[in-house]
Order: sequence, then C-alpha cells, then structure tokens
Amino acid sequence: MFTNPLIVKILDHYKKIWAIDTLKALSAWDLEVYMPENGAYFRGQAMGILGTMQQKLLLDNKFLTLIKKVQNDKLNIYEQAVVRNLNRVIEKNKKIPSKLLEEIEETTNQAQIEWRKARENNDFQQFAPHLKKIVKLLRQKTKLIGYKTHPYNVLLDDYEQGLTVEKLDIFFGEIEEPLKNLLQYVQRSSKHTEHHTLENLKYDKGKMRELNNKVLAYLRADKTRLRIDESTHPFTESISVDDVRITTRYTDTNFQNSLTSTIHEYGHALYELQINKDLTTTPLGGGVSLGVHESQSRFFENMIGRSKGFLNIFLQDIKALSPQIAKYVENEGIDGVYRYFNMVKPGLIRVEADEITYHLHIKLRYQIEKDLIEGNIQVKDLPAIWNETMENLLNIKPKSDTEGVLQDIHWSLGAIGYFPTYSIGTFNSGLIKYELEKSIGMLDNLIVNEQGIEKIQAFLKDKIHKHGSTYTPEQLLVDHFNSKFSTQYLINHLEEKYKKIY
Ligand SMILES: [Zn+2]
Repeated sequence: MFTNPLIVKILDHYKKIWAIDTLKALSAWDLEVYMPENGAYFRGQAMGILGTMQQKLLLDNKFLTLIKKVQNDKLNIYEQAVVRNLNRVIEKNKKIPSKLLEEIEETTNQAQIEWRKARENNDFQQFAPHLKKIVKLLRQKTKLIGYKTHPYNVLLDDYEQGLTVEKLDIFFGEIEEPLKNLLQYVQRSSKHTEHHTLENLKYDKGKMRELNNKVLAYLRADKTRLRIDESTHPFTESISVDDVRITTRYTDTNFQNSLTSTIHEYGHALYELQINKDLTTTPLGGGVSLGVHESQSRFFENMIGRSKGFLNIFLQDIKALSPQIAKYVENEGIDGVYRYFNMVKPGLIRVEADEITYHLHIKLRYQIEKDLIEGNIQVKDLPAIWNETMENLLNIKPKSDTEGVLQDIHWSLGAIGYFPTYSIGTFNSGLIKYELEKSIGMLDNLIVNEQGIEKIQAFLKDKIHKHGSTYTPEQLLVDHFNSKFSTQYLINHLEEKYKKIY
C-alpha cells in the first residue's frame, strides 16, 4: 500500500499525531459517559495542550519539507491520498494560531457541561454566554482561514469537504416541496393518527437493554471490538479500528427511540470497524466525511431498523418490554408496531422525527447557523428565533427551551456546520439503497434471510467502508456507484413507502 520511502517517513511521523487522536477520542467518550461534571475544567486544559502538540507535529518543518518533496514522485492512489489529506489539514492549521485552538478546546469542554445543566434546568440563558463565546471563536476562525462567498462555508468544509451554502440552498430548496407534499398526503389519509398508543407506554429498561443487545447480535456486532454505553445524546466514537464505542439512551416511554438510536450508532460503528486495517495510524484511517458517515447510520436506522421484516424478527422481545406493550402487540400485531416506528407527525425533537419531517428540523438549524456565523442574529435571541422558525416550518411551537433550542449537544461541542450532513447523508442513503438492491437483491428480502445481513455488510464494506479516507466524499460515491447523487432516490423511497402505509 505504502512503498514510497518518503511516504513511509511521513507516515512514521504522522503516527504521533494519530496517537494523540486516539486519546482525544477516548477522552471525548469518557466526558460524555463517565466524567464527573467538575472534571471539565482541567480536562479542557489538557485537551487544549494535546491539540497544540498535534498542531506542532503537523506544522513541523522537516515534515512539511518531506510532503513538499514527495509531490514530485510517482505515487499510487493511497500515497496520493495521504498527501492530499495532509495538505488539506496543514493549510487550515497554518492559518489558525495555537492560542485560538486552545481557547476553542477549553471553551467547548466547559460548554458541554453547562449545556447539560441548562437543558436539565430548562434555562437557555445559562448556556447562552458559552455559546456566545463559541460563536465568537468560530467567526474568528472563519476570518483566519478565509472564504470567497460565505464564512459558514469554512465550517461546513470541516465536516463535509466541498459543501457550501450555495449547494445547500439548492438542496433544501429542492427537497422542501416534495417533503411537505408527502406530509400533507399522510396527514390527509384516513389511516393517519396524531398519536400512537405505544408512544406513552412505559418499558422495562433492563429488558430494553437486552433487546438492544439482541439487535446488535443480529447485526453481527463484534463485541470484542465494540461496546455500548449510555449517554444523554447517543453518539459513536472510534478509538481505533479495533475499539469502537457507541452509546444509546433510555427514557421512561417511547421505546422506539432507544432502539433506533442503537441501530443508528451501529451504522456509524460498522463503517469505522470495516475500514482496511492497513490504513490505521495513517491519515486515511477514518471515515471520509460526515455526509458519508450519516449515510451509513441513517441507512441502518431507517432502511433496516424501521422495516417490517426487521421489526417482526424482534416482536417477541418487544412484547417482553412491559405487560402493557405485550397486550398492545397481542391485539394489534406487527402492523401496529410497524405503524408506530413509521408514524409521521410534526414533532419538536429532531432525533425523534420521522423520515419525512426530519429534514425540516435540519433546515431550521441550517438557517440559524448560517445567520449566526454571518452575524445577522444574536445568541440571546435564539429561543425566540427557534420557536418562530419551528412554527413556520412545522406548524408547532416548543413550550420550553429544553424541547426547543437546547435539545441538541452540537453547538456546545463547537460543531456548527455539522447538522446539514445529516440531511446530505440521509439523501446519500437513498442512492446507496438503490445501488445495493441493483447489485445484491431487494433489501426487504435480505433483512429476513439467513446471511442477508452479511451480504449487506460485505456490500457496504466493498463500496464504502474499507476505503477509509482514500477518496474524497464525492469521488467515493461517483467512482463506486454507477449513479450520481440526486435527491430523487430518497424522495422515491419515501413516496413509495409512505403511500403504502397511508
Ligand atoms: Zn449519526
């Protein structure tokens, strides 16, 4: 894979940067799962220092000279990708002073804890000063890195290479109408209901944990390389190719939320677990972008986890969640459970949103982030702006900050520019399903067939996972699929599915 002697030297030096990365990932996981809340201050300082150590290693003169020199050599695709990926981060890092990096790290480590408290207390103003500082620091970053048309493009590019406001305006413009039309269709159907009995039934958390573990076993999760814990906001952290962590959450009611969170995160985890091991410790060793990552998680969550065949496999386990749930399932059978997992109704919470309204939640966040970074709106006004936009897009209004502007962890992490990748990723999953079915058979059959899951995973590994960051996100999809990105694949999938249910 890597034979050029200069590349070998480059990778040898890079291994130190990678080593810090793995510990930063472990620390990020720990912060969400185990760390006592007062640990944030000194943890933030330590992470800030590790970040600047990485930056020093990255901007080391000898290292930069090697990279410059090797560009005259004839390189294979992996070696070319190493140079391309390194140049991308080096160019950005050259423009950001280590002081700013440290400040971002310290601010966000503290902000995460403050966000959690503010969310519990339903008090946005408690979180506001921290968010204000984050926005200020990120605006500074966009100025230092520089941009042609919009400062937000700088942040978008961190999560999805090449993604811009210009592209997203077209994207959201294109999907809003068909989604709203489909929503209207569903709402007008005689089968549509605003509520589902299963939403409000309590479940036994121990049994739910068992169900989550059974689902992971069905998905062929390798527990020697993967573990599952609990956190406020489910997430995946890859420590290394042989150590990937996912989390899920348990609430009192609405058990589908815990199940779909587990499957969603497993989709992310599988991507990281199936990357070619020879790429570990190199700049190609991780998933290529969030848009591609979310295509994997949303594929598992929606296309597999919300399918009738999949739910039918676990019907007995669902019945075991509580006597009330068992009674419902006995009366209504699989069709009732299937309708519950595929209920369509405008709601307040993004992670609980159905496949149709989900993207309107993302559009709301996209608009707010774009305006914040441009300086058109102020942090203190966010609750009011949030509630008003929510009413415009989904015709409902949050009664509290917790179920409104405070619901997501992302801003406290400094992850502004992240949200649009959820929608881009979901629409990529439409293309992936289309290509998968063309190549290995109908998904509904694969889900219920012996070896079907193995076939799906092998397909994803071959087309996407094993390559790590060898290709740009666009190249990966264009080169490995016969079809080009289009919003139509997912729209077709949604129309076909929901016109069958409603
Ligand atoms: Zn995700």
